[in-house]
Amino acid sequence: MKKFFAAALLALLAAFWWLFLDSRAPKDANGEFDIAAWRALIATDAETPEEIRLLIVGEDEAPRFAAETGAGLSKMSLVYTAVQIASPSMTTILGGAVDDLTAREIAQSKDAAFYPDAYATLQASYLNADQIFITHEHLDHVMAVTRHPHPETFASKLKLTAPQISALPRFAAPGEDLSPALRDLTPFEVDRPTHIAPGVVVAPAPGHTPGSLVFFVRRADGKEYLFIGDIVWTMTNINHLKTRPRILQYLFFDPDEDRPEVLRQVRALHDLAAAEPNLVIVPEHDGAYLEKLIETGAFEAGFK
Ligand SMILES: [Zn+2]
Ligand SMILES: [Zn+2]
Repeated sequence: MKKFFAAALLALLAAFWWLFLDSRAPKDANGEFDIAAWRALIATDAETPEEIRLLIVGEDEAPRFAAETGAGLSKMSLVYTAVQIASPSMTTILGGAVDDLTAREIAQSKDAAFYPDAYATLQASYLNADQIFITHEHLDHVMAVTRHPHPETFASKLKLTAPQISALPRFAAPGEDLSPALRDLTPFEVDRPTHIAPGVVVAPAPGHTPGSLVFFVRRADGKEYLFIGDIVWTMTNINHLKTRPRILQYLFFDPDEDRPEVLRQVRALHDLAAAEPNLVIVPEHDGAYLEKLIETGAFEAGFK
């Protein structure tokens, strides 16, 4: 009997480790993110973005261990954001964020907040933008697009990839079908790093979702940015070389993350951060870190 309980306890501990603590990044991930190739693509651009603006549409709090294995019970601030990249000849928007309903549905704390004015600003910004991208096809990155009252007014500027487009129907407003303007989009192909605007490159980064993308940007003053969507939720993931706990596969992600690939990307970002200390790596949800980037002038606050 004693042996049985010892074995059962061991199995329980192993399951706990596997679900909450296991996060083994590979020793190297060479070639995953090729910053030299991105730089080469923008090397001869006659202009680069003068401003990069960050809009916060909502915020919330969650325990740190939910974002990073073994990170403890203290709270971290998380935000829902979109980005406006403006050069003299072209304005690019990254992101669809959440709507009010979704923000309430996925709220993790009683202090969760949604900013209707910022959301309205985001939806209005699509009309004046030259092109619109999303980092990936998750419910907290698409709603200003899929639940826009008039998607036909900006659909021609949407540059969504085939995996992103195929996920859109599930993000239509409750009880409604996705607008045909969004259903019938022509896929934008990103099978390699691609120049999309002055000073801006998009590259495929499937893993967190099949349609995940990263965006490399050089501002006019030379400052460089890498927008990484949700490869990680906080910068500490990159510093500590840790991904999310595996239990989230069962609670949140549908389809599952490609966990080995995400771990490769975390390794690649960790090494990139060490090799390029001036590169501003931007996880979309890391509230405290993004606020600091606004304070230090890496971003302007809010859209124009
Ligand atoms: Zn997200
Ligand atoms: Zn996501």
